[in-house]
Amino acid sequence: MKLGILMVNLLRSALMILVFLMLLLSAPPEAGARFDGRRAFEFIKEQCEAGPRSPGGPGREACLVLMERELSALGIHTHRQKFTVPLSLIKRIAEGTNLIALYEGDRPTSDLIALSTHWDTRPIADLDPDPALRGFPIPGGNDGGSGVALLLELARVVKARQYPGRILFIFFDLEDSGIPGRDTDWCLGSRHFAAHSLCDYPVSWGINVDMIADRDLKIRPELFSLEKAPDLTREFWTFAEQRAPFHFSRNPLDFGIFDDHKPFLDLGIPWINLIDFSYPPWHTHEDTPDKCSPISLEIVGNTILEFLFHHSENPVKFYLNNENQRR
Ligand SMILES: [Zn+2]
Repeated sequence: MKLGILMVNLLRSALMILVFLMLLLSAPPEAGARFDGRRAFEFIKEQCEAGPRSPGGPGREACLVLMERELSALGIHTHRQKFTVPLSLIKRIAEGTNLIALYEGDRPTSDLIALSTHWDTRPIADLDPDPALRGFPIPGGNDGGSGVALLLELARVVKARQYPGRILFIFFDLEDSGIPGRDTDWCLGSRHFAAHSLCDYPVSWGINVDMIADRDLKIRPELFSLEKAPDLTREFWTFAEQRAPFHFSRNPLDFGIFDDHKPFLDLGIPWINLIDFSYPPWHTHEDTPDKCSPISLEIVGNTILEFLFHHSENPVKFYLNNENQRR
């Protein structure tokens, strides 16, 4: 009887080892190379610990070095694109730096897809409930920090999973130094890139991310994306809503958000904006890492990643609204 139990136990152990080995052997090569929200979240903390990335802010060089360090470690070449612009908000000429990184994949003739965000943070906290604090720069945990964190972790996974196409990672500067009510002073890095760099980097279409780490995450299409790039907007949100229905909704906002995708939409390049604009700490000193969530980063990161792979396997052309009407 005892021998029988021993045999059963031995057989059971052998079976478990066999199942484990089969699972190991059947695991896809990309297993383990999933977007890690906790790893991305550490990048938010690192940026905030270095200080604000506003014009002249103490965290600027550290943030540039962080981005260069992470991308260089992946073998992705980076380039600092410098420009100068007058900034009405701080009443002086500011020097801006876009960080550009090209992931080449192994299909050099494939469409160039852009993933963008802004890395600068707002130099004033004009919506802070305490008037005495409004003149000081925000920490930029979600607004600034989250986009950088997401793209850096996305670059790691794109590389680990050997995404076949070409991706341009662009970290725009001086997105957030505008004056409320005036369109002219926002998104200065992306405007500079759109005006000077599209010959060098002929982007086919793009996705911009901004404020995507909110704990209470819900991302809906804003009106500029929907009206000017309806194909890409529809395709992305249909895909995203199926995978993460609690966090993405095809139901659009009833307003447009002037963000780093807008200069490209104006030039005829489909470029959507993923933003959760419903974020109470927005432009206050409460925009700190504890308001952000590794899970939100992971949901957005994996959705973009899966969309990229889905598109590379099922390539379609995205059109602007006016081209839709011509077809
Ligand atoms: Zn902002």
